[in-house]
This record gives sequence, C-alpha cells and structure tokens, in this order.
Amino acid sequence: MDIFRDIFKNVAELMYPPRCPICEDIIKDKPVCEKCKKSLNYVGSVRCLKCGKAITDDEREYCGDCQKRKHLFESGVAVFQYDDRIKGSMYRFKYKNRREYATFYAGEIVRLYRKLIEQYGVEAVVPVPMYEKKRRIRGYNQAELLAKELSKLLKIPMIDNFLIRSKMTIPQKELSDTQRINNVKNAFQIRDIGVKYNKILLVDDIYTTGITLDECTKALKAFGVKEVYFAVVCIGKGS
Ligand SMILES: [Zn+2]
Ligand SMILES: [Zn+2]
Repeated sequence: MDIFRDIFKNVAELMYPPRCPICEDIIKDKPVCEKCKKSLNYVGSVRCLKCGKAITDDEREYCGDCQKRKHLFESGVAVFQYDDRIKGSMYRFKYKNRREYATFYAGEIVRLYRKLIEQYGVEAVVPVPMYEKKRRIRGYNQAELLAKELSKLLKIPMIDNFLIRSKMTIPQKELSDTQRINNVKNAFQIRDIGVKYNKILLVDDIYTTGITLDECTKALKAFGVKEVYFAVVCIGKGS
C-alpha cells in the first residue's frame, strides 16, 4: 500500500505544491523560502521579561505595556514582530485553511525557545480554545494546530479538552481596550478531566494585549494550576 500512498502524495504535491507561508512562492523540502527566511522580522534577544515583546532599551526589563498592566501569567515567548507580511500569513493560516503553516510556526518556536520552554518545566501544552460552535463552522482551531505540533516537537502532551471557551466572543481586534477586557471576561472554564497540573504552556497565534491569555490563566489558576506560561507566533511592537 505504501506505493499508492507515495503516488498519491506525489500527485497531491503536483496539484498543490508546498508554498512559502509568507510570500506563497512554491518551495521544495524547506518550511520557508530563502528570501523570506532572510528578511523575516524576528523579535530578537532584547525582550520584555513578561510578554516576550521586543524592547529597544536593553536596560529595561519590561515593555511599556507590561509596566502599565499587570498580567496573571508568569511569562512567555513570541517569534515574530507583527508586520504586514506576518499579518497576511496569519490571516491565511486562520481563515483560509492553510493548516500546514503550523509546521513552520511551531518549528520556529521550538528552534528559538526550546531551552527556555524546557526551563519552564510545563507538564502540558494547552491551546487557547475556540468557542465550540465557531470551531465547527471554521473546521479547526489554529491555536490547536500549533499546540499539536509543539507537543510533538517538545514531547509534552497536548491537552485540548481541559480549558474551554464557554462564551461566544467577538474577535479582539475589532474592539477597544476596555471592550476587549469585557469581551473575554470569564469566557473560559475548566472541564474537570480528573487530572491536576502545576505548570501549563498556553499556545496561541497572536499576542495583542495579553488579555485573552490572562483570562485563560485566571481559569487555570482557579483550578489549582500554579504557573502559566505561553508561546505565540507573533506579537506587536514594544515600547
Ligand atoms: Zn517566501
Ligand atoms: Zn511586556
């Protein structure tokens, strides 16, 4: 049967050749094209100790946002600064069924932050959940695809039936700061699956204000989780 699987794979590749997740050029045997690889806007090593955002002044420990707003999670990492190209890629990943982008994005998280994530000592990888009805309509939750890849690469189990979104929310990007807080307030709940965790790694595609991650953290900590970290693909520019 292997031969049929190979033929099928080859035909599928001819019809739908793998494409660069950033510029959509055809690529072969690599996760991203050379041009994009060189010009991607990585967060870099001078980062906010809390949210992982790039900061310009390396004397400072926290970004302007984290100095103003206290977060409930411990800390986290982000790979890219949210620029127009990543924005386009994230849009296709989220809404245009480009599920395969998860391989590249999770691969980059692990390539850059494996050590740090291992230091967190998390017991499970948990995707930021989508409201179940919404997930059924879209067919997938992009955070879950990322978490699944991360779980494979880091050899840490993914738990996707533990944290649930119990409230239908409006996409955060359409709202003001105050509306955002109310929008996701108490939107998450824990389903008791009979296991206790001390340390969790939350996974999402984009970090905007951290409010969603805070609300997830609130639900997790109310259930007894002691420390919550996160990994995201991209994050806004710091100050
Ligand atoms: Zn490219
Ligand atoms: Zn920060």
